[in-house]
Amino acid sequence: MGRIYNFSAGPAMLPEEVLKEAADEMLDYRGTGMSVMEMSHRSKAYEAIIKEAEKDLRDLMNIPDNYKVLFLQGGASTQFAMIPMNLMKNKVADYIITGQWAKKAYQEAKLYGTANAVASSADKTFSYIPDVSDLPISENADYVYICENNTIYGTKYKTLPDTKGKILVSDISSCFLSEPVDVTKYGVLYGGVQKNIGPAGVVIVIIREDLITEDVLPGTPTMLKYKIHADNDSLYNTPPAYGIYICGKVFKWIKNLGGLEAMKEKNEKKAAVLYDFLDQSKLFKGTVEKKDRSLMNVPFVTGNEELDAKFVKEAKAAGFENLKGHRTVGGMRASIYNAMPMEGVQKLVEFMKKFEADNT
Ligand code: PMP
Repeated sequence: MGRIYNFSAGPAMLPEEVLKEAADEMLDYRGTGMSVMEMSHRSKAYEAIIKEAEKDLRDLMNIPDNYKVLFLQGGASTQFAMIPMNLMKNKVADYIITGQWAKKAYQEAKLYGTANAVASSADKTFSYIPDVSDLPISENADYVYICENNTIYGTKYKTLPDTKGKILVSDISSCFLSEPVDVTKYGVLYGGVQKNIGPAGVVIVIIREDLITEDVLPGTPTMLKYKIHADNDSLYNTPPAYGIYICGKVFKWIKNLGGLEAMKEKNEKKAAVLYDFLDQSKLFKGTVEKKDRSLMNVPFVTGNEELDAKFVKEAKAAGFENLKGHRTVGGMRASIYNAMPMEGVQKLVEFMKKFEADNT
């Protein structure tokens, strides 16, 4: 059996070229006589891998010199705690609740200080991004937190909130490297890599240097201090070495395709194929307000749960995997990250058309 179209929200498809290259290097990485998996993280060969990965990411995202790039572990969820532990100097932070991941981060922050929900789209099942142009930002807020692309609900911020001078912290797990970003607008950007960049087990944190201090909440474990990782160039302890190596390959893959501008163009075209179909379909319906639609995660429904289940089952049999919506919302969701080829989306739409004709 060949490769199928995998619409999983994460872990998700990786570029075939990257997987093949990794396969070629599996037994003997460039004459070292060993796999990167077997290599000391203190070796010259590995040092070159992690340094080059960081450099390529800096080039891609145009990361200024006064930001550190950290390759960490614990998934995006560990950042829900690490952020307040390291940044809550006044023990106050404002959170915008646009879905479950933002809510989880908010709830975690409450363990460490006062977390205020300054806006939310819970009233309409997180199907939109609230107006964030004039929020009641707390005067002593240490930061304002957003989840920029909401994986489960399929929404994305098109404009960043006015934080009224406060530091912006953003979870970019599901839109990482999908389009250009202006890093200077953020204090911290972070994301798990298992959607757009690499295998699960790596989380990348891009943090402005002045936010990295010894002044963290009492009792913060050493491994949860940004400073320890920044001071040691992500090599304080054994990093998720193989995962970082794959991330590095994906960075090069994106660079070769023309960088984030090119990625954005490709992603917009891909998403348009699906959204245009949904907008004229008599059976399928997108669930998100048009202005807030994500390029990466596209949820849709038929309006009939049985028909949804039938669709997911038949799609799977036809080679379109993981189209079931998140267990908390039902329906369907097609995650179309960078590595999903245009052909995959076109074929999915053809399949949907046929399903519609057969079921209406
Ligand atoms: N944030 C977002 C936007 C996510 O989509 C996810 C996972 N799907 C997480 C955080 C949690 O990531 P992890 O499983 O790496 O902790």
